[in-house]
Amino acid sequence: MPSRCEFVDPEFNFPCGKVFNLTKIIFNHPKKKEPIVKFACKPDGDRRFRYLSMTEEKLSTQYKQNKIKYEEFKEEMKQIRWKRCRRCNGEFESNEVACNITYYYWKDGMFMGLRRSFQLHDDCMERELKLFNIQKEDVKSTITTLDSVM
Ligand SMILES: [Zn+2]
Ligand SMILES: [Zn+2]
Repeated sequence: MPSRCEFVDPEFNFPCGKVFNLTKIIFNHPKKKEPIVKFACKPDGDRRFRYLSMTEEKLSTQYKQNKIKYEEFKEEMKQIRWKRCRRCNGEFESNEVACNITYYYWKDGMFMGLRRSFQLHDDCMERELKLFNIQKEDVKSTITTLDSVM
């Protein structure tokens, strides 16, 4: 399988295509058998990685600056990792099964280890996944047509 960065810049609606320093990202939906695998170059992958890590990084900074106590930090981190969506920060419903996005270290086509795993709502994961797909123009125009009818 040729590995290239599949991230689609929304401005150009075209995949990045870089082949160096790729990160492997696996999208897991609890109701789907096969996970979806995507590759991203370092700048594109890191940008999404940072976005999804935002709540966690903010909390770590607060802790490092002694703004919160260790117990509070630990409890809040648990909430962020297991109880809340990493994209919208909304809580999961008690019976909701979360989707999962996992970033792997990947170097010269070789698996180097797990980087970080994120839990997300299924629609939030779909939105994240959309960033790796070319947006079809015809879908957009169908929506517009429907809107004008309603
Ligand atoms: Zn890229
Ligand atoms: Zn969400």
